[in-house]
Amino acid sequence: MNEPQPTPRQPLTELIHHPYQPPPGFQAPQPAVHKASTVVFANTAAMRSRDWRSRQGYTYGLHGTPTTFTLEERLCHLEGGLQCLLVPSGLAALANVALALLKTGDEVLMPDNAYGPNKALAEGELARWGITHQWYDPLSVDDLARRLGPRTRLVWLEAPGSVTMEFPDLPALTRVCREHGALVALDNTWGAGLAFNPFDLGEGWGVDISAHALTKYPSGGGDVLMGSVITRDEALHLRLKGCHMRLGLGVGANDVETVLRSLPSIALRYRAHDQAARTLARWLQQRSEVVQVLHPALPGAPGHAHWQALCGHVEGGTGAAAGLFSVLLDPRYSPAQVDAFCDALQLFKLGYSWGGPISLVVPYDLASMRQQPTPHLQPGHLVRFSVGLEAVADLQADLAQALAHALPAL
Ligand SMILES: *Cc1c(COP(=O)(O)O)cnc(C)c1O
Repeated sequence: MNEPQPTPRQPLTELIHHPYQPPPGFQAPQPAVHKASTVVFANTAAMRSRDWRSRQGYTYGLHGTPTTFTLEERLCHLEGGLQCLLVPSGLAALANVALALLKTGDEVLMPDNAYGPNKALAEGELARWGITHQWYDPLSVDDLARRLGPRTRLVWLEAPGSVTMEFPDLPALTRVCREHGALVALDNTWGAGLAFNPFDLGEGWGVDISAHALTKYPSGGGDVLMGSVITRDEALHLRLKGCHMRLGLGVGANDVETVLRSLPSIALRYRAHDQAARTLARWLQQRSEVVQVLHPALPGAPGHAHWQALCGHVEGGTGAAAGLFSVLLDPRYSPAQVDAFCDALQLFKLGYSWGGPISLVVPYDLASMRQQPTPHLQPGHLVRFSVGLEAVADLQADLAQALAHALPAL
């Protein structure tokens, strides 16, 4: 009656299939990092019945792991959404929206101050595929309303716009799009889910889609690229998710881990970036080299009243804003002097992107970025600052020495 003993497996096989399971119940501050391309199924029936779209289980690394699901849930909570997709960059989030929703013959509207590469996508691939675009004046609801037509399928919003920082009337822009029946997508990178709620712009409704460059504040390190696409409508989410799957947009578990690790401190960091940026922006307002400071929380800045209405009640009445602002330097300086000012900065490094601990500066050529006139901007040289987490007194001293070094009194 001896049971046949299984043939002992060889060590090489046991290196892969050893039955040891660590005890369950491990708890630690950070969630586990699950890495997979392949996900294994208990049996063929489980494999066949598995629907890759359902979040009740796992099918393949691209379609979700416990690690990506965890970040998605937390980001939904941050932004007030119900469904989330993770993509390899903020730009991929913008592209995912466009490619999922637009077809030949459709039109997309974008503010003239939209994130540059999003405009380039419209002028590049979308135009080649017969999808037309128009740029609207972000400070004019009437201008947007005039441009909405029978082919308008998608309207982008950005608050504030990239580099020139005009804060639009988001509730009013969203309302005209909804009345027209166009889908509304917001690039919510600046607000980050902290400055305002994109899905409730005051009357219980908001945008259809919030795209977020997690590269910025959710990462907070200047070392990760990632994006998210958040919705509150399951059918819209599934449409975006189908495109996401067919394009093979996935994120690496270690990058997700980095964002999960930074996320708990996002509100503290956002507030610190905001306070320092406002201190420096106000100080620069007093400087004779500067003709205009573009920061939506400063009275007089383009769209300030819209910022005040949407974000002004946050943080006990001081309002919330990110750590970004731009200045226009006196047009009598030469471009070479402006470059010399940027080069003379020691703590502010020359670099794109923002949201990390290091302060950054970029000189921009406004004329090449805009298709429409900008009467709300003074003539001058545009320089954008991203304020990091250094001591604000040191940053102010750095600005002062670079101004003194490169920009003589006029
Ligand atoms: C940085 C940024 C993006 C793109 O994010 P990446 O991760 O760098 O691709 C999109 N929109 C805005 C407003 C941004 O600032």
